[in-house]
Amino acid sequence: MSALDNLMLDVVRVREDFPILERRVHGDVPLIYLDSAATSQTPTAVIDAMSDYYRNTNANIHRGLHSLADEATAAYEGTREKVRAFINARLTREVIFTRGTTEAINLVANSWGANWLNAGDEVLISVMEHHANIVPWQMLAERLDIVIKVIPCDDDGVLDMAAYRDLLGEKTRLVCVNQVSNALGSINPVAEMARLAHAHDALILVDGAQAVPHQQVDVREIDADFYVFSGHKMYGPTGIGVLYGKEALLDAMPPWQGGGEMIRTVSFENGTLFADLPHKFEAGTPPIAEVIGLGKAIDWLDCTHMALITRWEQQLMRHATERMREVDGLRIIGNSPDKAGAISFVVDGAHAQDIGLLIDQLGVAIRTGHHCAQPVLRRFGVDATCRASFAAYNTPEEIDLFVEALQRVLTMVR
Ligand code: PLP
Repeated sequence: MSALDNLMLDVVRVREDFPILERRVHGDVPLIYLDSAATSQTPTAVIDAMSDYYRNTNANIHRGLHSLADEATAAYEGTREKVRAFINARLTREVIFTRGTTEAINLVANSWGANWLNAGDEVLISVMEHHANIVPWQMLAERLDIVIKVIPCDDDGVLDMAAYRDLLGEKTRLVCVNQVSNALGSINPVAEMARLAHAHDALILVDGAQAVPHQQVDVREIDADFYVFSGHKMYGPTGIGVLYGKEALLDAMPPWQGGGEMIRTVSFENGTLFADLPHKFEAGTPPIAEVIGLGKAIDWLDCTHMALITRWEQQLMRHATERMREVDGLRIIGNSPDKAGAISFVVDGAHAQDIGLLIDQLGVAIRTGHHCAQPVLRRFGVDATCRASFAAYNTPEEIDLFVEALQRVLTMVR
């Protein structure tokens, strides 16, 4: 039994950390923010850390011999250690800063994929991937003639593990899957999928963009070869993300982008010698303030305790699911028993776009559309859904207000 077992998240205190939650919209309507799967809100500590960096420390990292450069470098590299601990990676050199999940996947596709894949090799991609984990592989398939195969899901939005086992074969080189689907909220059995991929000598890339804000992630327990996520979905800033890769893989991979910071020596006569990990993958001046902000977001999560956040959000998910089921004609898309963070739905006789626009007038921010996951929406026979998504700062009362607002909107549009 852990010391946290009997504790509950103090949501009143949590909300105090997010000044934006006091906002009113459309004149004087209180904001109910249920769009954290797109971008979570930012605690004051993160905003202050970034502002403090620009006020007091602003300098380029690694190259300087002056105090500010040293301080900036220490804060930047200190965050790498925080990220390492956050995902329980073995080494800081396995943590590469990128602009986000999308860039991290493109890095893997263009460095590992372009150099390790050959015509006829197979990449398995789950049907519920975000476009960020589909399009880079399709672009590579055009260039290299690799074959993309799709891991299907059932009517509840649970990945079909029997089909996955059948798809794995001699030609499989890589499996691409998200740990939590942004469109359905399904939690996928990534550790089991990794075990099966490895049994076929294939690698696995896990997109953790929607997992890291909701549950403790351990890349070694999953045995992920690559694990990627974005800062702005875990209470950090936009423009920063992470690629984790196993050291031996990253070591063998060539740099993707060339430029400053990622070299050891450059000469016209003898060419370029690249820097060691992790710097060989971080060309140019990185987003220093954003990295520092990400570090503060990890501090915030550590202080708030992920175990408490997970439990709180599971309660919110249960409450929201029950309340939403009361709405006449509402169909939840994705009914996996293991879900986190988001609930997608459609309502008979009402277009998602109309619901989104009208409910916004009542102060409720949800997302509507294809959520950059068109294949899985097509799988469920819809081209758009509404999605309510939750974070540590949401409350059951907000969910009740959301459902009331939804009922009101439906009387207008149906
Ligand atoms: N993967 C998943 C599961 C996502 O939800 C998102 C964003 O919604 C992405 C990838 C892309 O993240 P980013 O736009 O931060 O690169």
